[in-house]
Amino acid sequence: MKYLSTRGNATPKTFTEILLGGLAPDGGLYLPAAYPQVGRAELDAWRQLSYADLAFAVLSKFATDIPAADLKAITDKTYTAEVYRNARPDSDPSQIAPLRTLEPGLHLLELSNGPTLAFKDMAMQLLGNLFEYALDKQHDELNILGATSGDTGSAAEYAMRGKRGIRVFMLSPHGKMSAFQSAQMYSLQDPNIFNIAVRGVFDDAQDLVKAVSNDHAFKAQYKIGTVNSINWARVSAQVVYYFKGYFAATRSNDEQVAFSVPSGNFGNICAGHIARQMGLPIGQLILATNENDVLDEFFRSGVYRPRGTAQTFHTSSPSMDISKASNFERFVFDLVGRDAGTLREFWGQVDVGGAFDIAGTPYWDALPGFGFSSGKSTHADRLATLRKTWEKYGVMVDTHTADGLKVGLERRRPGLALVCLETALPAKFESTVIEALGRPPERPLAMENIEQLPQRYQVMDADVSALKAFIAANAPV
Ligand SMILES: *Cc1c(COP(=O)(O)O)cnc(C)c1O
Repeated sequence: MKYLSTRGNATPKTFTEILLGGLAPDGGLYLPAAYPQVGRAELDAWRQLSYADLAFAVLSKFATDIPAADLKAITDKTYTAEVYRNARPDSDPSQIAPLRTLEPGLHLLELSNGPTLAFKDMAMQLLGNLFEYALDKQHDELNILGATSGDTGSAAEYAMRGKRGIRVFMLSPHGKMSAFQSAQMYSLQDPNIFNIAVRGVFDDAQDLVKAVSNDHAFKAQYKIGTVNSINWARVSAQVVYYFKGYFAATRSNDEQVAFSVPSGNFGNICAGHIARQMGLPIGQLILATNENDVLDEFFRSGVYRPRGTAQTFHTSSPSMDISKASNFERFVFDLVGRDAGTLREFWGQVDVGGAFDIAGTPYWDALPGFGFSSGKSTHADRLATLRKTWEKYGVMVDTHTADGLKVGLERRRPGLALVCLETALPAKFESTVIEALGRPPERPLAMENIEQLPQRYQVMDADVSALKAFIAANAPV
């Protein structure tokens, strides 16, 4: 399996060759040259598999340059009950990503039982083990540099802690995260994890990362890498749970289902699109946004018009406060029939702050064939959905999952079972849960007193040279 760039001007690469990198050299995103197809016989055989075996089966189609025994060892090591055990007290402990049925035909796929209580653990834990494996083989090291406003940074740290050859330098806005989120990250004592609390807001932290990444000499000397959501291995690991959710919600492979996906960077739902292209019988992919509704606007009107930071709202589903969906380019590449020229034209506009419009083009006519529906959910909708789900089913959901539930119920086609992806546990977004229900969410036992644990982090001004000096001091070359 070779990987091509959406912009059409990069040498085809293998899975391992693109594993540690980010964008392709031509500025595009990597995608398989052709999606592997899963036929009926294979689908029937996969229905029986455990999560780890299913992950091995799916990833074998993508990571064709990793010897099967090595890949099997990696998926077995990653998808264990020990790692994905921070379940709700009443979750099915025998399963990874169990399906919870709210009522016949309406389900939650529990993807947030991993160490940081968000679905990002499903892929990030695998990435940690894949990185360690690849670096070991290359006798190399990697210093991961990132900025986080919460979920991604903690998922990355819990995936990379204690890994040979890897250090993580994670910037976060000083005093701007919830006490729970800060404690989750800052209480890690592993010597390869460096938390840097930047005096400023998230954008200041993000700008520092960009400044360091643009210093190509420094980046090369200190082997700086990232784990952002365009990483192909992350997307491919997310494909697995669409298969798992489908099998759990159906009795036979003749049935179709709808998935509802709370979306920000389009990474999660992009994996759903890929699963569908591989032949998984997905009738509908329902994309839910919050008030930051750039993607909903596209699916309703054909206009993709990313917004700047000033037009991006801070909402109570903060992990979806994104106005430029980095993985969206992968879907549009397929939508335009993989014509890299058209894609370059579109992103020529996007990359200079503009927009593109497919209304009235053949691409607009092709869009329904991809099975998407979309909708938007607001703070008031989240509160109402949290209350309804609690009163009707006795289940507390988090604010992002509530966006997905709201839009999923609104847009589902009659007759399709609806699987709503649970992207975080309510414990991560306590204050909105209290606002909606008048009571706090339950926390996993192990995290009961996480705010009281000793914390290890470095406070720093938003100063590039200070950051470089810190990296140089802690990442000897
Ligand atoms: C990251 C995240 C999302 C958005 O996922 P994308 O892959 O960026 O679309 C939704 N909900 C939660 C809780 C998240 O952490």
